[in-house]
Amino acid sequence: MTVTVRFAPSPTGHLHIGNLRTALFNWLFARREGGRFVLRFDDTDRERSRREYADMIETDLAWIGISPDLVVRQSERLALYEAAAERLRAAGLLYPCYETPDELDRKRKRLAARNLPPVYGREALRLTEAERAALAAEGRRPHWRFLLPNFGDDPFFPTRTEIHWDDLIRGPQTVDLASLSDPVLVREDGSFLYTLPSIVDDGDLGVTHVIRGDDHVTNTGVQAAIFAALGLTVPRFGHHNLLTALGGEGLSKRSGALSLKSLREEGYEPMAVASLAVLVGHAGAIEAMPDLASLGERLAFDEVSASSSKFDPAELDRLNAEIVHGLDYPAVADRLAAIGVPPEQAPTFWDVVRGNCAKVGDVAQWVPVVFGDEVPTPDLSEEDQAMVRTARDLLPAGEIDAGTWRAWTGAVKEATGRKGKALFMPLRLAITGVDHGPELAGLLPLIGRERLLSRLG
Ligand code: GLU
Repeated sequence: MTVTVRFAPSPTGHLHIGNLRTALFNWLFARREGGRFVLRFDDTDRERSRREYADMIETDLAWIGISPDLVVRQSERLALYEAAAERLRAAGLLYPCYETPDELDRKRKRLAARNLPPVYGREALRLTEAERAALAAEGRRPHWRFLLPNFGDDPFFPTRTEIHWDDLIRGPQTVDLASLSDPVLVREDGSFLYTLPSIVDDGDLGVTHVIRGDDHVTNTGVQAAIFAALGLTVPRFGHHNLLTALGGEGLSKRSGALSLKSLREEGYEPMAVASLAVLVGHAGAIEAMPDLASLGERLAFDEVSASSSKFDPAELDRLNAEIVHGLDYPAVADRLAAIGVPPEQAPTFWDVVRGNCAKVGDVAQWVPVVFGDEVPTPDLSEEDQAMVRTARDLLPAGEIDAGTWRAWTGAVKEATGRKGKALFMPLRLAITGVDHGPELAGLLPLIGRERLLSRLG
């Protein structure tokens, strides 16, 4: 059977780097297995789901290099879920409940006061036909719960019922269905909560592996029971640890923090973001991988930590700089042109400045330094100014090339007796206007004789 995975965001906000971890675990696993990747929008929540968010999620994934084999929207598949709900009702496994949220809350509090777990007591199952009819006549509409298979003959006496699975990431797992409330699958207004549509789609689309965050581990016990009730093959499950912000707080799709959109707009390289999203909380070094295929080779489910991992924005800057330093000119040609680097000199310019750029956009600060008519006048002492004037007179004749800097500073050293920083810093300041930057040996040929002479006084 072809390996089929799905990434199933609800389009209620922008994807963040934690969501990307899930997407990439699925994508890289599918690529490695020669499988299919389905992008499924969990958009049954009509209030909060938006088409713009769904479109942005596709844009974000494309930026990273993820191209789904299939895109489905749950809002277009409601008939399938209705049919499944009907089958469960007919089998007596989906039952109507009329409690209001307040009533449920009171029930939970009463249980808590007796030190009992807040598990729903299935009181709605005791309603007679007549009682149900009376409630309906009052205008009350039911929500619908799935009857968990956690009892022998009497649903009011659940007994320990273990669901086991060998988690792709966490190893052997056990959930006791007797510790859980019957899940609500359908709301009062007839809309579906996430659980049933997810299972129906996983079955219908032939999903073989469900890889998602470990906030879903308990759901898996319930879902395995519903898969079985619907006669569907239960997929393999893998639950990865979640990413948190440095302070330990969870990342949220709605807050927009660390969203892929904002990282893209801030000029990060997709592979820096992807490398961090996958390799944080993984054995081995967090390093910038050049492409998704090599990142896929680093993905090892048995090396993923079991506890949550902190996402450190400084780490992203480090990875980004690593990637930028290694980018060849063709990879950045369009961006340099957009920034206004003269095309004839752009390849050399890039080679000279890239080591000083943490983001490709940082080249912008070196454009005026190299190609500008003037640089800021440095604050030099009398002696330094005199040294710069001497240097001006000693600038070698002929073409300025890669060897010029060495020959020139050698001559200035001899004439002035200066060396080291005392020699180089006044020259750097005079030539570039700043006290740091790319190697002057590389900059000189780009700056050219005319601009050099005018900057030297
Ligand atoms: N829409 C669900 C979520 O974002 C999907 C969970 C799942 O992968 O089953 O949490």
